[in-house]
Amino acid sequence: MKKLVQVSLCLALALGPVSAMAQRKPIPEPPEAREYEGPYTQLIIRNATLIEGSLAPPIKPVHIVIEDGRIKSIHLINAVGSSAYSRDVPKLKEGGREIDATDMYVMPGLIDTHQHIGTQAEYQFKLDLAHGITTLREPGSGNGLNWVKRQRDKSAANLITAPKIKAYLRFGFDPDGNFNLPFTEEQARAWVQMAKKNGADGIKDAGFRPEVIRGSTDEAKKAGLRIMTHHRQTMVARWNALDSARAGVKSMEHWYGLPEAMYDDRTVFHYPADFDYQNEQWRFGEGGKLYAQSAKPFSEKWNAVMDEMISLDFTLNPTMVVYEKLRDYQRARTQEWFGDYALPSLWESRLVPSRLHHGASQYDWTTQNESDWTEQFRLWMTFINEYKNRGGRVATGSDEPMLFGFSLIREMELLQEAGFHPLEVVRAATLSGAELLGIDKDTGSVEIGKFADLIVIDQNPLANFKVLYGSGHIRLMPDDSVKRVGGVKYTIKEGVVFDAPKLLADVKAMVVAEKKATGKHIVQPGFKE
Ligand SMILES: [Zn+2]
Repeated sequence: MKKLVQVSLCLALALGPVSAMAQRKPIPEPPEAREYEGPYTQLIIRNATLIEGSLAPPIKPVHIVIEDGRIKSIHLINAVGSSAYSRDVPKLKEGGREIDATDMYVMPGLIDTHQHIGTQAEYQFKLDLAHGITTLREPGSGNGLNWVKRQRDKSAANLITAPKIKAYLRFGFDPDGNFNLPFTEEQARAWVQMAKKNGADGIKDAGFRPEVIRGSTDEAKKAGLRIMTHHRQTMVARWNALDSARAGVKSMEHWYGLPEAMYDDRTVFHYPADFDYQNEQWRFGEGGKLYAQSAKPFSEKWNAVMDEMISLDFTLNPTMVVYEKLRDYQRARTQEWFGDYALPSLWESRLVPSRLHHGASQYDWTTQNESDWTEQFRLWMTFINEYKNRGGRVATGSDEPMLFGFSLIREMELLQEAGFHPLEVVRAATLSGAELLGIDKDTGSVEIGKFADLIVIDQNPLANFKVLYGSGHIRLMPDDSVKRVGGVKYTIKEGVVFDAPKLLADVKAMVVAEKKATGKHIVQPGFKE
């Protein structure tokens, strides 16, 4: 019987001193297995509707020719007027494969720019690929940078079933996952050099004393390492999101540090006198009033902060999905796909109130708490949508250590709720993520010369992102029957083809196995099994 300890790095951040994480047990690695088809001398996807990822409107019917993992050519048949694409029908080379995508859609593979790899990597990676995620950024490498780099390299060689991985190292961690926080600027600079030497793709700052974060940021820029920042609430009064943008940080994660940059009638959140940050009911309950205490949308201060951040090429990575339970706790606890796809141990650690688990903060969650968070989402979404309208970059990240895959699709739905057109949502989840990670020359859109990182699906995701969920979408058919439609059909990663339903079947089996081994099932607190 395996005991599950799923710890997100964000959890550690919020907890402050990382005593429990100082020494880690070895984390099981995903098995080496050839669970894909290809690569082929040539792969042709025929008659598809193409969603490019660049805001270009959909176009059909196209044939996409893939060789050596990259998109070699795109052919538009029956083209009227001028077109950037060839007009001939490509013939398949010997040893090649064709996918008939008539009435299907092809879009870029999704990029999850904030996904911690937990202790169940095989489960997690299969859910990712089953939802079309072809690249993820590990924002901290809590399993140890060496561990993450190993998976990164194995994934690149297609030895394991996994998306492509960018390994960022959280400030203070060594390559084996031990934690030792630098307290001086010199230590911070030395730590960045260590991260560079050990092959990190970037670093994650998490809010420390200004001189420490300034030193690490400066050193990282010199070393050519990209920086992402989670602005820890205990430090935001001294270093907020605008300070990060000015220092050259690439992205802010989550929502902390932004309202603090926009205060126009105070310098600190008006905490109640008996507030205790370590009490998560307080932390997240009071946190729901943060944006309401900051500058009003479209006010002078609000505009000035937004415009300066955009001018600094600063990216928002809101990870709204991880906070959605704060505005609707019951919805979060009872999603329909949990039965088949959620490991009960993960569900329990995330969604049953607990003083021991970070984020399980609903000790006595009230109508007022959810009303505050509903308003907070409205204010936050207004900023995110206008940021995009003025030319700012918004990327997608999930940060949810249980809802892998599903949560990134939900993040896309939340961007649409914020006001994004579906094409803008797709760009955020693909090309914008690639730009943030500095890999947009190679991936992030369906364009000639880029890697064939693609989703093939028999429903139109622009009409409804719910069709991307592994559990599909419910539809009443003309004959009055009720059917489930959708789910990704194929996820293609550099030209190799993963059968998404097959990956989901594997995940289901893993869930059944855990239930059998532990006797645990998902039962709502206080209810009998
Ligand atoms: Zn995180």
